[in-house]
Amino acid sequence: MKRHLLLLVAALAMHCGMAQDEYPANYARVPRFKALLHYEPHAEPAHVQFDEQAIRFFQKLTYGEGWTLDVTTSLADYSYERLKAYSILISLNAMPGGEAQRDAFRRYMEHGGGWMGFHASGYNDGHTQWPWFNDFLGCGTFYCNNWPPQPSLVECDTTEHPVTRTLPAQFVAPASEFYQWNPSPRLNPDVTVLLSISQKMYPFGIKDVVKWGDFPIVWTNNKYRMIYLNMGHGDEGFIDATQNLLFVNAFRWIVERDPSGNPFEK
Ligand code: ZN
Repeated sequence: MKRHLLLLVAALAMHCGMAQDEYPANYARVPRFKALLHYEPHAEPAHVQFDEQAIRFFQKLTYGEGWTLDVTTSLADYSYERLKAYSILISLNAMPGGEAQRDAFRRYMEHGGGWMGFHASGYNDGHTQWPWFNDFLGCGTFYCNNWPPQPSLVECDTTEHPVTRTLPAQFVAPASEFYQWNPSPRLNPDVTVLLSISQKMYPFGIKDVVKWGDFPIVWTNNKYRMIYLNMGHGDEGFIDATQNLLFVNAFRWIVERDPSGNPFEK
């Protein structure tokens, strides 16, 4: 009896040892990577509402110090040399201001930088005068929008992509103002469209009504390590688990392709 017990203890110990070697999780001992979040506190109030919730959302993802999040209201102090320490720049309704900041951002992106841009961070029109940015975003200029902000049925253009593979084929996205672009990013062979406003939504809007057209809202330009998400207006951006999952997936997908190595495997 005693001998059996000893054997059992020995077997259990061996089992535990094996289990430890093959443990399914990979625990970080130090923060895995650095992210920089940029927003403009004096932007349109509905954009700032979204931004403040987004900051809390991303801060929660740092719990346990898995990674480091720096928050800034200006890129003025971020030269290319400083930017390149970050695996990802999260732009919340904010763009680089002025020539020096634009140049630093362009160099960062052209040398493997990561970018996750929301809503007005991609806004550009005839006054923006930054042709490189249109090439980077992979589409034309802002064309029109629905108003007021409202929920929308959205459809995954593919569920094969890492950003959408855990999402349902369609879901209702929380209320936002959505931008339509001309020409649509879908016409760009370098772009993969991941999510679009459903054509069933037309006519889309109450005051400002979008009547027709291709309406992508999340896409990536495969020439860069970037993803653009058009959500970002108002205080409902983080009320929906499915959309939150989309944001986490998008964030993770940008970070895991850091040219210095996938930080989640470290
Ligand atoms: Zn807006």
